Amino acid sequence: TRSILIAGNWKMNMGPNDTADFFEQLDAESQKQIDGVIAAVCPPFVSLATAFDSRKSASAVKIGAQNVHFEDNGAFTGEISTSMLTEVGCDYVILGHSERREYFGEDDAIINKKVKKALLAGITPIVCVGEVLDERKQNRHFDVVKTQTAGSLEGLSASELEKVVIAYEPVWAIGTGETASPEQAQEMHAFIRDELAKLFGKEAADTVLILYGGSMKPANAGELLQKPDVDGGLIGGASLKPADFAKLVAIAA
Ligand code: 13P
Repeated sequence: TRSILIAGNWKMNMGPNDTADFFEQLDAESQKQIDGVIAAVCPPFVSLATAFDSRKSASAVKIGAQNVHFEDNGAFTGEISTSMLTEVGCDYVILGHSERREYFGEDDAIINKKVKKALLAGITPIVCVGEVLDERKQNRHFDVVKTQTAGSLEGLSASELEKVVIAYEPVWAIGTGETASPEQAQEMHAFIRDELAKLFGKEAADTVLILYGGSMKPANAGELLQKPDVDGGLIGGASLKPADFAKLVAIAA
């Protein structure tokens, strides 16, 4: 059986001071390892070192980044490499978030290069896919997610796929307070797993964690996480508050 991953995407929030406060307020109990549940937060780059320093000594909270570049190093002003992320200790990196796709021009080909680079560095990529509202209205959401999934993961082997986490984030549900219904989420997660099985084989597909993202919060997490193909959440707004984050982890347990 698959474990559950509760991952916070802090986006462009939480500088080093707020990050230190977060871990200060996150009680020691919720920083302990819970069987079958992995908790992770993804702060901005400048807060990563503080996040590692501020975790309680027994902390099982994993830490990730929100982006990475696909080159090793060199003249790429403003970018961060995978070796820098491994040097500070990152376990995860979020790739292909809809905000990166929309505002920073990332497409499946770029995301695919980043996924491969992260895997080479031993960092678990959390690869985001999801349709915008118009695409769902036009009943194109399955096609869109299929294309994004295949494109972002092109050229991976089955054993590499097993190291990837997918996050289904319907763009119309991000930061809007509107969530996909548990049925809509399950339907898409099962579809994604099916596509993965066609591309990489059922055995590998069955091991992949598929997270749901989009206005997930303590009030709706339980019913979403009950669905068989919903293996956790990628949480924006609600992950910024230690109490809510702790609740989400407890609900997942
Ligand atoms: P919200 O939880 O704020 O809707 O954001 C979801 C998200 O984009 C996580 O990556």
